[in-house]
Amino acid sequence: MTDAPSYGFDTLSIHAGARPDPATGARQTPIYQTTAYVFRDADHAAALFNLQEVGYIYSRLTNPTVAVLQERIATLEGGVGAVCCSSGHAAQIMALFPLMAPGRNVVVSTRLYGGSITQFSQTIKRFGWSAKFVDFEDMEAVAAAIDEDTRAVFCESVANPGGYVTDLPAAAQVASDAGLPLIVDNTSATPYLCNPIAHGATLVVHSMTKYLTGNGTVTGGVVVDSGRFDWSASDKFPSLSQPEPAYHGLKFHETFGPLAFTFHGIAIGLRDLGMTLNPQAAHYTLMGIETLSLRMERHCENALKIAQWLENDDRIEAVTYAGLESSPYYDRAKALFPKGTGGLFTVALKGGYDACVELVGKLELFSHVANPGDTRSLIIHPASTTHRQLTEQQQIAAGAGPNVVRISIGIENAEDLIRDLDAALPR
Ligand SMILES: *Cc1c(COP(=O)(O)O)cnc(C)c1O
Repeated sequence: MTDAPSYGFDTLSIHAGARPDPATGARQTPIYQTTAYVFRDADHAAALFNLQEVGYIYSRLTNPTVAVLQERIATLEGGVGAVCCSSGHAAQIMALFPLMAPGRNVVVSTRLYGGSITQFSQTIKRFGWSAKFVDFEDMEAVAAAIDEDTRAVFCESVANPGGYVTDLPAAAQVASDAGLPLIVDNTSATPYLCNPIAHGATLVVHSMTKYLTGNGTVTGGVVVDSGRFDWSASDKFPSLSQPEPAYHGLKFHETFGPLAFTFHGIAIGLRDLGMTLNPQAAHYTLMGIETLSLRMERHCENALKIAQWLENDDRIEAVTYAGLESSPYYDRAKALFPKGTGGLFTVALKGGYDACVELVGKLELFSHVANPGDTRSLIIHPASTTHRQLTEQQQIAAGAGPNVVRISIGIENAEDLIRDLDAALPR
């Protein structure tokens, strides 16, 4: 498709990156289930390996089905390029990898998906990296946490699961004042509801496992690059600005300009870390994205109805949905996410931990599962599951205290979901 930016979001969700298969005319993007690609001759092979020519070598690095998905998501997010990888968590490592080194740190929001809190507070230490957790409601504290060794600032657009909306323009300003990239996890919002790049983000990461695929069939992730960051403005990002020994001294930023981060992600990140998305998974995610806007509209509509119903029920202590007027983030959500704030929220029950366990056990339509962002409605009690590894203080900071359930509203009939909740909530 040419001249992509002139089309609307729904059109791009179906067409961006795709064209009829040049070999067969197949209208749907084929699943190129191949490990390798035949070189035309030795010169062609050498040019590909030297990054002098763009093409396909080996599916750990590039694959035509995955390439369509990369172009589609980059287009929907308003980025210049994207690198797909094997999970959302892989995407977070892939986003940080070119920026970090032993001794460096990333300043991250306390309001993150529980798995991300564990990844950042524990696992990245094995690489000699560290994370400084800060409440992003206090932007002065975010600025104050940045030191000489900080290489990125990280937050979620709408946080999973707390119904928290980050002030993205303010976070982008703090990062930019410090000469650092802002990385935004846009999983819970999707590009349909929010484009963090338009609010100043440098990189956007997604777990495609959730709304992008949309039906709980795939584990995948993606890093989208805005192409706007000047990696050579300081000496902080040598992997992108300095000669790369693994490519005969090639300088990624000088050579590839705004595509430096994307090329580095493929040529170094996927090549050497190997967190590659397989073409079958890319196919499922492409299918999912074709209906992204229709699904997100219904997710938002249902979520608002159900959040309003819950808020008025006397068994409920609080509902944290940024689409509710009672939410402290309502005005910010309206400004940043005018189409809605997605299908995820948390509910605090007056009956505490035990009532949460009973509710989760009794529901019939809602499934008790660890993922959000499915066509079907899902529920989980974070304190006894996803957020179990966290201290109670971390749980509360992440919006997942002991009396809280996280609900992911699907695209079923809202009345059916309300009836199910009404019957299962302990009296
Ligand atoms: C699920 C999730 C992740 C991790 O993604 P995986 O695909 O499960 O690795 C990261 N961030 C958010 C907001 C998520 O919901």
